[in-house]
Amino acid sequence: MRYIKKGQEPQSFTDWKSQENDDWKPTYKTLRGQIKAEVHDALLEEQSYTCCYCGMSITRNISHIEHLQPQNDKTPNLPKDLALAIDFTNLLASCGIPEKSNLEYEKILHCVYHCGIKKGNNLLAVHPLQPDCDVFFRYLLIPQGEEYDVEILPTEEPDKQQLAADTIKTLNLNYSKLIAMRGSAIKGALEAIEGLTQEEIEIFIKSYEQPNQQAFSFAIAYILKQFLDPN
Ligand SMILES: [Zn+2]
Repeated sequence: MRYIKKGQEPQSFTDWKSQENDDWKPTYKTLRGQIKAEVHDALLEEQSYTCCYCGMSITRNISHIEHLQPQNDKTPNLPKDLALAIDFTNLLASCGIPEKSNLEYEKILHCVYHCGIKKGNNLLAVHPLQPDCDVFFRYLLIPQGEEYDVEILPTEEPDKQQLAADTIKTLNLNYSKLIAMRGSAIKGALEAIEGLTQEEIEIFIKSYEQPNQQAFSFAIAYILKQFLDPN
């Protein structure tokens, strides 16, 4: 998981919400068409086109607008917060689409089993709007013949372990397909650093630690750092 620094919402979204009057209230349900697409695109842009939770590469076609604090539609014991549902600071882009209408659905069928769709209306103990969210997790490289698996694990820091474990479970971040996808990303990175000097590898890691469009780059950076300094 990587910290997402929220930017400004699209002007069209602000304008749409400002039309509120006695007869009409903006709600997430009525957010549609071009304005919704612009909100979605702004979220993708600020996340470098990677899923807010797992880090896989996403586009508008294979992601959805995710509410970090749930919309509460299906949570009867919580009051429905209409404003929160259209508050840009509560919105993220997660992999997965809730319905099968999308042509690319087959490619991302697995996404219904993890990240935003799996989370549903649950709350997260650790989330990507927390600046230190990355320190809650570590990654374990498991060679599988020529290939690799990469599991996500809670940090070894005792005060953070339970929160991390709960988050991994709620988002199902060790879903088999995700483990394999992280593994093939690290395989590509290991090939890319072959023959590089330690200094060059450090530069490579630094670039992966910054927000960028490489899928699972935070997991790759973590594992490469282990290679350089196993302690
Ligand atoms: Zn995801």
